[in-house]
Parts: sequence; structure tokens; C-alpha cells
Amino acid sequence: MKTFLIALLGLLVFNPDAGFAQGFTAKEKSIILSGDTATMLRVTQITEAPELKVLTTASADIDPKDPLIKVLAQRMYLAMRDVTRPGIGIAGPQVGINRNIIWVKRYDKEGEPFELYLNPKISWRSELLRKGREGCLSIPDVIGDVVRHHAIKLKYDDQSGSSKEEIIEGFTAVIFQHETDHLNGILFTERLKEQERKVYNSLAGRLDFMVEKFYARP
Ligand SMILES: [Zn+2]
Repeated sequence: MKTFLIALLGLLVFNPDAGFAQGFTAKEKSIILSGDTATMLRVTQITEAPELKVLTTASADIDPKDPLIKVLAQRMYLAMRDVTRPGIGIAGPQVGINRNIIWVKRYDKEGEPFELYLNPKISWRSELLRKGREGCLSIPDVIGDVVRHHAIKLKYDDQSGSSKEEIIEGFTAVIFQHETDHLNGILFTERLKEQERKVYNSLAGRLDFMVEKFYARP
């Protein structure tokens, strides 16, 4: 027990960063600083082997106070709003950065603003599901009907480093689920495959609202 306590103390003393996000790696910095804030970052594609690896790798937390976030966020935003293929959300791995950072268009807010979220995590998902059409900036020529949770609870850090929590529902919740999946290395085409094996009970009169068969009430 004594040895264990000393070992624990050692961990606390010698690992002051435990529990905090590490700074950007040299490789990440070189991508973020490969152009100025007026130029977009390249959107990674599943058709390129090294980029597919980034897209299927789980991302790490980001330090909300890192000054490079402003540059990364702006260049991600421009990549997402590329006029040749505009999107309504984007995640770090989609610009080659395996970090927990996403942009989401808030259709549920007045003016439908794009907002930046750091270290977003879904901590609750409704049993009520909904099916809707999705595509992805990183996957050319695939559109599919994906089943998502109607409502979620999201925990995240804002840009001053404060921890926040919010319940989000409807189509905006779908975007958050698509983007946080990216942070876990999961593409929507994987969700399509996994959902082929599941059985859903549609709610009366609403083909786009359902629950998983397991949860069905008589
Ligand atoms: Zn996507």
C-alpha cells in the first residue's frame, strides 16, 4: 500500500501534464502553418491511403488556449466553405490533424451560425432515433440514409478553456454526431454498414423517426 502511494505520488509529481491536452506536434504545426489564415487547408480524402489513415485514427484532446487554434480554426473554416464543395461541418482529421476540434452549422440558432467546438464529447444519446441523408467532404460520391439519435448531450470546451454542456436535438444534433464520429475515426459509411444489421421500429406515421427494436414498447 505504501509503495502504491509513493508510486502514485511519483506519477503526480513527474507527470504534471496528466489530464491536460498536449501541445501540437511538429508535424501538426507544419500543416497548420503551411499557409496563412486566408488559405484553406486541404480536405483529406479516403481515396488517398495516408489520408485514410488519419481519417480512421482516433483524435486527441486539444489545449483550448493554444494560440495556433485560431489559425487552424480559420483554415478549417475556409476548407469547409470551399465554394466548389461547401459543407455544414468539419472535423480535425478532415484537414489532416488528429485533434478534437470541429465546426458545426447551428441550424437550431437564429441566423444559423457556424460555431467552433473544442474537445466535444457526447455524454448522452436519446433512445429516439431519426434517419436522414448524409454525405461527407472526405468521401467522394457517396450519399446515404444514416440513423442517428434525435437528441444528444454534448460536453465541450469553449475557446477560453471553460467546460460547457448542452442538449442539442434535431438536424443540428445529427451534424454533431457525424463530426464527433470523425474524432473517433468513424466514417458515416461505417455507420451505414453497421446499421444494415439492425432492426428498427418506426414510430406511427413517421418513417423518419424510430427506436431500435430492443427498446420497442408494445
Ligand atoms: Zn464527414
